Amino acid sequence: MTRSLILQCERCHEFTLSETCPRCKGVAKNPLPAKYSPEDPYGEYRRRLKRLTRQERGTP
Ligand SMILES: [Zn+2]
Repeated sequence: MTRSLILQCERCHEFTLSETCPRCKGVAKNPLPAKYSPEDPYGEYRRRLKRLTRQERGTP
């Protein structure tokens, strides 16, 4: 619950709990959706899971 409240300043990238950056007064937004996973760390996991699911069902 607490982690979803963490925001990051668009200007200086300072992490803050407020929508206004305490350091530069810039706008702070949730950093997770926009630029958290450039490499998609769960991609391999998803592919593996997909493969396992296929094997369980016996479809090619
Ligand atoms: Zn800032």
